[in-house]
Amino acid sequence: MRTRRLLLIAMSGVRVRSEELRRLGMTLPGFIERGRVVASLPSLGLLTLAAHTPPHWEVEYHECDDERDLAGRWDVVAISSLSARIHEAYGLADRLRADGTKVVLGGLHVSALPDEAEPHADAVVVGQGEAVWEELLSDLEAGRLRRRYGPRPFSLTRARVPRYDLLDIRRYNRLTIQTARGCPLDCTFCGASRLLSAFQVKPAAQIRRELEAVLARWPRPFIELADDNTFAHKRHAHAVARLLGEYPVRWFTETDISIADDDALLEELAESGCAQLLIGFESTRRASLHDLDSRRWKYDRHPRTINAIRKIQSYGISVNGCFVLGFDEDDPGIFEETRDFVRESGLSQVQITIRTPFPGTALYRQLAAEGRLLSPAAWDRCTLFDVMFEPKRMSVRELEEGFRSLMSALYEARETARRKALFRRCVRARRDAGRSGG
Ligand code: SF4
Repeated sequence: MRTRRLLLIAMSGVRVRSEELRRLGMTLPGFIERGRVVASLPSLGLLTLAAHTPPHWEVEYHECDDERDLAGRWDVVAISSLSARIHEAYGLADRLRADGTKVVLGGLHVSALPDEAEPHADAVVVGQGEAVWEELLSDLEAGRLRRRYGPRPFSLTRARVPRYDLLDIRRYNRLTIQTARGCPLDCTFCGASRLLSAFQVKPAAQIRRELEAVLARWPRPFIELADDNTFAHKRHAHAVARLLGEYPVRWFTETDISIADDDALLEELAESGCAQLLIGFESTRRASLHDLDSRRWKYDRHPRTINAIRKIQSYGISVNGCFVLGFDEDDPGIFEETRDFVRESGLSQVQITIRTPFPGTALYRQLAAEGRLLSPAAWDRCTLFDVMFEPKRMSVRELEEGFRSLMSALYEARETARRKALFRRCVRARRDAGRSGG
């Protein structure tokens, strides 16, 4: 069988559009730390597709979109892009196709808007790529490529080990492993929770294989779990924590506040190398959470937030608390309220973003129906730092300015150092309690 060539391109890094915010970000160490980490993660989705590619295909993985030397060398180029860079991805796809290269587009944005993507591609993949990838490549070889593949269900019991071997390991400071896909909750602004898949977990034996593949290339790695909500399924949560605890890894993941209810799990996490949990508290104002998810789950849990943060951190596990600004209940008082809440809670790290209507989300549909989108389909504004809609209880300008001043207050060097010092105290207290057998 003739050797074929496949190029995978990830377009992931996001640029903050606002000049003022960009300038401010450059001076705020706490803010750029996490930004750097996120921008340097490889695309697990594309590495997973590579694992589902038959052996007579040669595969390369690129993160830059430098198109020099790309045209004509590949039987097919597959591009996955975040919403904020989708117009760049379409432009690249158009140029490659004009040179005769076949292009496949996929990922979250394309899955939400396949009609928009279709004119820029020879084929678009909707939903989970693994479900259709082998069929797509076989159709391509047979000259019968269809315009659209998926959505089709895919069970993580059929998952394969991502092709970590395609990465130049020196470029990364952490690698990703997925242990669960989707989320049982349905926050209105969340594009990740259901768009690709209903919530499902990966079998522990497969997670072990993936972990060992990472360790084979990087003996003491820092791992970021590429999950939407790792500990939503409690039996799975314990299995993941115990499994990671068997290896010399440090790791990070995203989850929800219910983890604070499970002391045994917190103990396992503390012993397993878990460095930090990122938790979406979403708002310090309870009324903003009332209609956030259909079960009012975050609304009901809101009064326990501060105790939960303190409890998790008492195990020596840092909490990175995420807050979204621009809910319909938010007025200009929300910025000071958020700053005070973060201080009082003792959070070791904090992440703030502006409520963003990503395509395919309930929030986008709501704001479009209410005529509140500032410019529909301006996807380059989906950066999480640009205002895309008319807020209800303040002006666009008040939201932008309040957000900037909250950023300054939360991320300036002294405040970042204060949070780190507080957390170091938690770690010391736990260590001392351990020594004294407490
Ligand atoms: S808890 Fe997080 S992952 Fe789950 S739906 Fe809400 S925002 Fe999305």
